[in-house]
Amino acid sequence: MSYLGETIPKLGFGYMRLPRRVEGGYDMKMICDMVDYFIGNGFTYFDTAYVYDGGESEKAIYESLVSRYPRESFQLATKLKLPMAGIETADAVGMELEKSLERTGAGYFDFYLLHALSGAGIEDYERLGAWDFVRRMKEEGKIRHYGFSFHDSADKLEALLQKHPDAEFVQLQINYADWEDADVQARKNYEVCQKYGKPVVIMEPVKGGNLVTFKEEIKDMLRAYNPNASIASWALRFCASLDGLITVLSGMSSFEQLKDNVDMMKNFKPLCAEEYAILQKVREKLAETDTIPCTACRYCTEVCPMNIDIPRIFEVANGYKMYGNLAGSQRTYGFIPAQRRANVCIECGACENTCPQHLPIRELLKEADKNFGG
Ligand code: SF4
Ligand code: SF4
Repeated sequence: MSYLGETIPKLGFGYMRLPRRVEGGYDMKMICDMVDYFIGNGFTYFDTAYVYDGGESEKAIYESLVSRYPRESFQLATKLKLPMAGIETADAVGMELEKSLERTGAGYFDFYLLHALSGAGIEDYERLGAWDFVRRMKEEGKIRHYGFSFHDSADKLEALLQKHPDAEFVQLQINYADWEDADVQARKNYEVCQKYGKPVVIMEPVKGGNLVTFKEEIKDMLRAYNPNASIASWALRFCASLDGLITVLSGMSSFEQLKDNVDMMKNFKPLCAEEYAILQKVREKLAETDTIPCTACRYCTEVCPMNIDIPRIFEVANGYKMYGNLAGSQRTYGFIPAQRRANVCIECGACENTCPQHLPIRELLKEADKNFGG
């Protein structure tokens, strides 16, 4: 299927979790081998961002891809992240694109995204003139298509698409576990894109690795149907079975993962009714996990003298209970500002006096600190 005049195979190479050497830094030999296998099997879409690994990811794009393959033989996406310290005008916003062009040596970007639009951050892109900027850059030929990646509700997505009908595509977080999730709203966001005729790039199809780390008992439900299919392949096939996609990104960290993804997507078969029914059972099983019954009412944060982000910490803890992905949970925990993490608790107990769920918050915070704290 072709979108925006491009015919792109349904697997994209995400440069967010690149393989590393034990002694530090990227394993460039491995990355080059992965790129060769990916391209050698007919795949062409690569995704990075200005902020990934402090710019190292964009530099790795140059070394592994741009310097080794003809520019017209692949599509390259990168992203503009606002606000940035010191960036207060549209001209200054342009410095980020110039830096991305310099690091990648790409000459132009096929897909350029306003990065991670959500909450109050949506306004930053308006205030700093980012939309006018990308329109201008398209006219100048520095980018070929512009869109945005999005992490908020379907209502906000609809409002954004009404305000910026010229946005050419949307990058969404979609996976089978979050399809009906009330916060992520994967299905609803996807349906908004369908309604407005916007092709979708899918990110996090394996939920940051969570959909391969859950309990053996759940994996066995998938293996029982097809012992030869990898656990990750279910997650990718769920996404790639949707209509209206530009591609599905996978942040592959090893040659083995890449080979599994490539081999499966090369001979892609959409999920059948029986397989959808199995995934529904998996969702139900995941929902049975004994998690912390926090309702995110935030009464506790209103009284906490240390302003600890208790509900967010419990959300990370619940993710760990469901999927058992310690490294992934530690990474997510790292996004909580240091001054709002569990270890700054002074054990005053004010939160427990106000929690309508009567949760032993102090004990739960200690456990969170033990599991995820540095
Ligand atoms: S016990 Fe800890 S988390 Fe609870 S209100 Fe006091 S400082 Fe905040
Ligand atoms: S008061 Fe209790 S239920 Fe509400 S957010 Fe805090 S921990 Fe969760």
